[in-house]
Amino acid sequence: MVDLQDKSLFRTAAFVDGEWVTQGSEGARTLRNPANGEALGEIPSLGAEQTRAAIEAAHRAGVEWRARTGKERAIILRRWFDLITEASDDLARLMTSEQGKPFAEAKGEVAYAASFIEWFAEEAKRVKGDVMAATERGRRIVTLKEPVGVCVAITPWNFPAAMITRKAGPALAAGCTMVIKPAEQTPLTALALVELAHRAGVPAGVLNVVTGRSRVIGAELTGNPLVRKITFTGSTEVGRILIAQSSETIKKLSMELGGNAPFIVFDDADVDEAVAGLIATKYRNTGQACISANRVYVQDGIYDAFASALAEAVGKLKVGNGFEPGVQQGPLIDQGAVDKVEAHIADAVGAGATVAQGGKRHELGGFFFEPTVLTGVTQDMLICREETFGPVAPLIRFQDEAEVIRLANDTEYGLAAYLFAKEASRIWRVAAALEAGMVGINTGLISNEVAPFGGVKQSGLGREGSIYGIDEYLELKYLAWNGA
Ligand code: ADP
Repeated sequence: MVDLQDKSLFRTAAFVDGEWVTQGSEGARTLRNPANGEALGEIPSLGAEQTRAAIEAAHRAGVEWRARTGKERAIILRRWFDLITEASDDLARLMTSEQGKPFAEAKGEVAYAASFIEWFAEEAKRVKGDVMAATERGRRIVTLKEPVGVCVAITPWNFPAAMITRKAGPALAAGCTMVIKPAEQTPLTALALVELAHRAGVPAGVLNVVTGRSRVIGAELTGNPLVRKITFTGSTEVGRILIAQSSETIKKLSMELGGNAPFIVFDDADVDEAVAGLIATKYRNTGQACISANRVYVQDGIYDAFASALAEAVGKLKVGNGFEPGVQQGPLIDQGAVDKVEAHIADAVGAGATVAQGGKRHELGGFFFEPTVLTGVTQDMLICREETFGPVAPLIRFQDEAEVIRLANDTEYGLAAYLFAKEASRIWRVAAALEAGMVGINTGLISNEVAPFGGVKQSGLGREGSIYGIDEYLELKYLAWNGA
């Protein structure tokens, strides 16, 4: 149980066709707080048939929902935005309880999550087609944009609110309906969000949440021909499985997958600005973000100054339960996450890296880990090859621009990249050469609803947010009009 001002936001049931489903045909799962292991509630595990019922409800509800005007949908979405904003304390409490992030960060995520609903409420009114020059007299070429249909959102635990609104906002704005499968670790935030959507006037069946084991539910979601689109945020490994499973019924796909973000500090960068930027992207959410810097390349001339300033700043980060005032870093999500961070550090140190700060499990025990800085890291170490998803900054020394571009692009991923420099021509050159969907320049904070979020290479397909985001939920129809 989580103590909330509005008790009815604490939901431990799936939501299908406007009804709360408390019994899962596959049983139930105890949800636990990663900061202290406390049981938060029993969440039903739905089976394939129950999942199918949610898809069919979304299919039925789509008939009326897509017939509404964009403006009618916009009014409901705007109301949902207002309700999320009013409930931000409760939503953040749920999030900190099930995910572990500091309460202030959780509040920040709720605002970020709400911004997608506000943005796509506005965009709902701006869907437009074209009339194009015809190739023959007496004809017109017309394009219309129509909703894709039933969409499935499969979302991760690291951003329990924003990953849902970034998908549900544009889907509902476009006239699609949706079945959401939140991560097993973080269903409470998702369920509170749909409770608010329901209150805002989203009709029964338009937005559904199925909870339970990903394999059982995932097989139905990807195999059911009524589902026209899968929108996923998570690992590249699971993305591959979902793409393969969807191939049978040829679904549209949006994939926000893993990253291995390079963070490059050139000699002319401002050390304090670069340290602040790295802390913002690396230690926020305990390093558990797909756009988190994973490899920190620092040019020879500034390396020592940057390393000591970073180690000092990281040493001051306050670790603890996210509800304690002033805490900047919560626990990792589970034991597997702790083991991975430890393995990456052990591999690096074994191959010659030095621990400049932290380096081990935190004295608080459980899933807490010390914010860590490693120096003397090289490209061949595990920590540079794999996404660490934890609070470790590995510092790699480089000499020149060509070398660092080669190192930065030496990965199958291409989500975010960061560079800190002053010289404008260098900034243009390097930003153009980096194989990434997003480049932070003299900043570690790049996400907002106005900017297109997404990756290249094996980091994904499609873009979320921005003026481009709604297109992922729209089909283009062409009318070849003779006699017009
Ligand atoms: P993370 O590393 O962030 O946990 P995952 O890719 O493992 O990312 O999981 C992201 C989401 O995908 C979660 O909701 C998870 O339950 C779901 N998922 C994992 N495996 C499958 C699968 N085989 N089919 C459908 N969904 C899955």
